[in-house]
Amino acid sequence: MASSFKQTLRRWALDAGITSLASRRIKGVRMLMHHGVGEGYDAAALDKQIAWLKARHPIMAFHEVATSLRQGRSLPDFAIVLTFDDGLRNNLTEAYPVLLKHQAPATFFVCPALIDAGQWIWTYEVRERLKSLSQEQLRALATRCSGKACDTLDAFVSWMKKQPNAGRLEALEAVRSATSSFEITETHRREYDLASWDELAALDNRLITIGSHTLSHPILSSLAGGELDNELKGSKQALLAKGLMTEDKAFLCYPDGNHDKRVLACAERHYSAACSTRKGLIASTSPVFAMPRIGANSALEDVAWRLWRPAA
Ligand SMILES: [Zn+2]
Repeated sequence: MASSFKQTLRRWALDAGITSLASRRIKGVRMLMHHGVGEGYDAAALDKQIAWLKARHPIMAFHEVATSLRQGRSLPDFAIVLTFDDGLRNNLTEAYPVLLKHQAPATFFVCPALIDAGQWIWTYEVRERLKSLSQEQLRALATRCSGKACDTLDAFVSWMKKQPNAGRLEALEAVRSATSSFEITETHRREYDLASWDELAALDNRLITIGSHTLSHPILSSLAGGELDNELKGSKQALLAKGLMTEDKAFLCYPDGNHDKRVLACAERHYSAACSTRKGLIASTSPVFAMPRIGANSALEDVAWRLWRPAA
């Protein structure tokens, strides 16, 4: 479907109340997955979205749904759960005031080792650095790293995601040295800087739950056993030590949604629940360590549509 026609259709369905009615025909909890709020997705759009959701759905905390699933209790049919991945500072400066205004509970998934190191999530860093290269430079770098020509930034990042962890880190260093003149702007910082420990500690913990997004956001299935355990256990321990997590609300979000059987088993050893990026609604039969979510963006017509069609 052409994108402009798709948006027009979705806007019409939203305005006519059709998506709202249609979603009422399908029971299940909708866990929304947000990332950054800032450039291209301002607080006003989030405010509109939360107000719209709140008028139609109960907004529940992550732990309420996780506990019900764990205990085999029935779930409310149309509840919304809000999650924000990556621990970006703009979640605090832009989204948090909106969440406070609406008293809407949410969970922020953060990466302790990146907060300590003052680094960005590696995918954001690689994308921004690669944007500063010419097409020829990108092709040369990709050929050097991967042995094949990746013509686009997306192809190179996808290639990196498929590498064993050591190979991914090597490629990250190669990207950094190939873009040594890359300059971080104020816009970059507003988009990609992570919240500090002090900023996270200042959040109202009755409204905001802090969850683990691993220590450093690697692709978990690419890790050796010891590394995997360290990423999951280490992240939880760091959050417990900071007083930002409690054992009964130890929640995990898999970077990139990536998890296999081994990752699931490790998550079960250290956490009480986890969410994935698999698109879908949460039913009472959903796996508590791979709860599906729905991608959220600034377009209310898309979010409303996906409450009905989660994968669209
Ligand atoms: Zn992430």
